[in-house]
Amino acid sequence: MSKARRGLLIILSSPSGAGKSTLAKRLRAWDESIVFSVSATTRTPRPGELDGRDYHFVTEVDFKASVAEDGMLEHAHVFGNFYGSPRGPVEKAINAGQDVLFDIDWQGAQQIRNSALGQHTLSIFLLPPSIAELHRRLQTRGQDSEEVISKRMQKSWDEISHWDGYDFVLVNDDLEGTEEKLRTILSATRLRRSQQPDLTPHVRGLQSEFQEMQ
Ligand code: ADP
Ligand code: 5GP
Repeated sequence: MSKARRGLLIILSSPSGAGKSTLAKRLRAWDESIVFSVSATTRTPRPGELDGRDYHFVTEVDFKASVAEDGMLEHAHVFGNFYGSPRGPVEKAINAGQDVLFDIDWQGAQQIRNSALGQHTLSIFLLPPSIAELHRRLQTRGQDSEEVISKRMQKSWDEISHWDGYDFVLVNDDLEGTEEKLRTILSATRLRRSQQPDLTPHVRGLQSEFQEMQ
């Protein structure tokens, strides 16, 4: 039996600062075959962020044109900026049997779950151990001004309130422990019946063999 499988759309969501990017990086270091869905955004780059690697930094005009051409798998307005997942690279990877990892908000997760690719989706929500710790992480990340941090903190409850729409929910207290749980969830989900297209011909083969023995 061949090892063909369908790629998964792995969605990581959380309030800003709970650890999505950190865990996404670790998951990809663990399995380099995982493709990261590089979102398009109209926000300005943070120090150290690279166009094409972290995000595709685009103008609002270009973003809207892409949405109008159905070029986005999902899109949303978050913290005053537009964000979206370009459709082309995702479909290419999934069809080649590669998993694609998304760091997107609850609106995007909902859109993907309700799309034609919904059955191939694995969605995980990360909760912070406490709101105080979430604030501390945003501050120690050191990439946003106090004003931006305060805006993100105010929006955190909005994001957290959608925690119950996800397949799995993890409290990201200990980083190593959360990473371990993520790996376990991913390894198991790859074995879901819907991810193994070769099962049907395999079972047919078993059936023929069985009938020949009668
Ligand atoms: P997000 O992508 O969800 O906005 P980040 O991955 O950027 O969050 O994490 C925010 C900050 O918190 C970073 O400085 C990161 O190193 C730190 N961090 C992430 N997970 C943990 C954890 N389990 N314990 C302590 N610090 C963490
Ligand atoms: P940040 O500006 O901190 O990189 O991201 C802000 C928020 O936007 C995060 O919650 C992040 O998950 C979300 N986000 C990033 N890219 C996308 C995207 O393509 N689609 C959606 N729906 N949300 C996104």
